[in-house]
Amino acid sequence: MMNDSQMPGLYVHVPFCKSKCPYCDFYSVTSPSHMDKWLAALERETSLYKDRFPLFDSLYMGGGTPSLLDDQTFTSLTKGLFRQFTISSDAEVTIECNPDDVTPNKTALFQDLGFNRISLGVQSFDDVELGFLKRRHNAGQAEKAFDSLRRAGFDNIGIDLMYGLPGQTKPGWLRTLDRALDLEPAHLSCYELTISTGTPFGRMRDEGEIVLLEEEMGRALFLVTTEHLTGRGYHHYEVSNFAREKKLVCRHNRKYWNREPYLGLGPSAHSFLKEERWWNVKSVSRYSDRLLNGRSAVDGYEKLSPDQAFLESLALGFRTKEGLDETLFHNHSQAHEIINELCQSGLVTRENNKILPTPKGFLVADSLPLLFC
Ligand code: SF4
Repeated sequence: MMNDSQMPGLYVHVPFCKSKCPYCDFYSVTSPSHMDKWLAALERETSLYKDRFPLFDSLYMGGGTPSLLDDQTFTSLTKGLFRQFTISSDAEVTIECNPDDVTPNKTALFQDLGFNRISLGVQSFDDVELGFLKRRHNAGQAEKAFDSLRRAGFDNIGIDLMYGLPGQTKPGWLRTLDRALDLEPAHLSCYELTISTGTPFGRMRDEGEIVLLEEEMGRALFLVTTEHLTGRGYHHYEVSNFAREKKLVCRHNRKYWNREPYLGLGPSAHSFLKEERWWNVKSVSRYSDRLLNGRSAVDGYEKLSPDQAFLESLALGFRTKEGLDETLFHNHSQAHEIINELCQSGLVTRENNKILPTPKGFLVADSLPLLFC
């Protein structure tokens, strides 16, 4: 549960991409025409929160594609954040980067502006898969981008990968994992491809143009991922996330799973503080117009009841290696029996008053909270 001593994280949504990947359902636009207004609106939004959120120990610039911002916009944005907010001197400061945006100039700018962690959106080291995903880079460029970031002095670089692509085989996926491991990244995120309605892949699925991988194969790829990466010493600390060492766990993302406070700025960004959650309008033009006309960009708000907070704690806790405190279940009359059954099925273990999901438990993490409804 959240307590007042937890320092919030700051998320900034940069809603621009050069082109739209056919699987992506994050909010972003491909036209830069609103960029100036968005930047001015973001400055306005920042000033609205600076008293309520005086100090952060993480900043995560995501999107969209923050790495495609021109140097002037990027500098103005970042300096504005550091000027308005107090960001602790030991903060984790991450930027999401696409490999095709990495240039020596950009890399130097990231460093000058205080970024100390890079999340590199590689997705695959197989050029055919990258073509299918309509990514703008090939495998060689991704390796080159990683190398140049490392040579420039970034030692905390994470690589994002995607598995469960149509037709993918275990050996093919392992080849991608091995090429990633050869680079010795600090962090690996391995997400299963999900196809959402409303995306180009969603339409192709509905028209039979994409044949999804069998569910069983998806599970097999997940299990081979955890086995392969933990075998190489990586710490599997969340369903989709692995850190080379415990200290390299992503501090910012950990706040989401631990229900710690965070402030999200930009269109579609979500915020959370003391059981209250609110989110911004999902349109860069409406976001900018509202703020520049002296109105709020908030589009929705909820205050979680104790029951909702309990279920959310389970939904997030079953996704992490840290698991759940047994005390969380004190008011639940059936919890003891349910947890015993989960232990017997090998989905969780009990250790030092904690309920810890196993890799098999991670596979069904989303369904476990339903047992406690
Ligand atoms: S670059 Fe990232 S945010 Fe942009 S469309 Fe592709 S996956 Fe989505």
